Amino acid sequence: MRLTKSTDIALRIAMRLAVLDEGANPTTREVAEAVGVPYTHAAKVVSRLQHLGVVEARRGHGGGLSLTAAGRTGSLGPLLRELEGVGDVVGCEDEPPCPLRAACRLRGALRTAQEAFFATLDPLSIGDLVAAPTGPVLLGLTARPGPGTGPGRDAGPSD
Ligand code: SF4
Repeated sequence: MRLTKSTDIALRIAMRLAVLDEGANPTTREVAEAVGVPYTHAAKVVSRLQHLGVVEARRGHGGGLSLTAAGRTGSLGPLLRELEGVGDVVGCEDEPPCPLRAACRLRGALRTAQEAFFATLDPLSIGDLVAAPTGPVLLGLTARPGPGTGPGRDAGPSD
């Protein structure tokens, strides 16, 4: 099973925010550059994380992004279920639909495997993921301009 790029970016952003000092409040662009993802993609992901209550974005002087308490301690399993969705792992209902879909044991087995994947992440939180050795690496990240990143300062994804 492979996670979507958006989910990976969401987790990278949340982990980066988790290691910053309280009040650091980086912009979306700064976080995007630090974790090496395009700004436009990061902005969409930050909006989604705000909607899920994982990230807070404040505008204006002293504004920027921060990880919420729920974002730090919440279970990863539900977060990934939200970010990934829990549809079929394969395209049973794609066009043309699979002729086996009405009575397919593989489909059920894959759903069970998918749920087991998410359940494995239930005991973990973003806070757990940034323990050493990951935390020090996250702290040491500096801006690495990449595709879609560039100069300029913004307060958040809606700027
Ligand atoms: S064989 Fe089963 S799991 Fe695969 S696409 Fe068809 S219905 Fe889905």
